[in-house]
Amino acid sequence: MSPPDDLEQLAKEAVKRVVLASAPEIAADLKRFWDEYAPYCTLVDDRPGVTLDAGPCGIVRFSHRTMLQFWLLSFASWKALDAYMMILQLTKSADGHIRLRTADLDTVPGQPEANADYAEAIARIKHLNQLQDISAFPWPPSVPYPSAASSLASPPDRAAYDLACIATGFAFLHEMQHIRLRAKNSPADPIDEELECDRFARETLLEQTAQYAAANAYSEEAVRIKRSLGIALSLYYGLVLTPATNRRGSKTHPPTARRFLDLLTAIGDLPPGALFWSWLSSVLAAHLKLEGNLPLELDAESDKALCFQLVDVIGIS
Ligand SMILES: [Zn+2]
Repeated sequence: MSPPDDLEQLAKEAVKRVVLASAPEIAADLKRFWDEYAPYCTLVDDRPGVTLDAGPCGIVRFSHRTMLQFWLLSFASWKALDAYMMILQLTKSADGHIRLRTADLDTVPGQPEANADYAEAIARIKHLNQLQDISAFPWPPSVPYPSAASSLASPPDRAAYDLACIATGFAFLHEMQHIRLRAKNSPADPIDEELECDRFARETLLEQTAQYAAANAYSEEAVRIKRSLGIALSLYYGLVLTPATNRRGSKTHPPTARRFLDLLTAIGDLPPGALFWSWLSSVLAAHLKLEGNLPLELDAESDKALCFQLVDVIGIS
């Protein structure tokens, strides 16, 4: 059964708002892009798993369930920060070097509980992913249901909202670029096409940040960090929701680690101690711990170096 027209229209409007808001400084360009490709964007019947792709006939398909998983993962990333951000910062020496025997963490008061909180958040999302009937999903009381930012009371909730919007914007820009390429000249290798769609979405969000920063009296670095966090969050959605068997890539998709690496390389000019690096290294550490793949020793000269190391671990786990 197809979703009712009004639900489809509401979903498309919500996605349009997210895409246009993801880079307000180029909203006019994004609107032209949207107007050209939105007729090919459709909400599909609910089904287990994740549905967000450029399907046959140049249609971007997405499901309500997928959007809910993205939303919940944005809040789950906060649990990862609770578990690892502080501990990684406290283990730094004065010059920013991180040395940590991760096995010792299990004896730190509160750490097993923080790991368990993160594990529970991820288990809940995987339950939603697999459930046959989405209406049977018990929404976690600690997470607000997706709604306008103005209805979110706490700064962490509003931050999770902002990052979820940028992450979702990145995901849709990626898919819309597939449609555009397929209407013109797609790269012969589907993996090249995937990486090109990532590049397009990434540069769309990052190229004009100076303009946005100047217009709103923000520092450009702060804007670049926030956009980069949103992009990293979108890649984290992929890390968590992609079956482990596909993580090292396939004939059509690059390895998850390669997608992270392209982002880290593109923003490599951010200072080694910038918030982006400590945020991502904390999220990756929490997820690798959950999967039993966190190295026993962490030894990195900066948060940035640790990020690259953990992305390498994703590549072989
Ligand atoms: Zn793709």
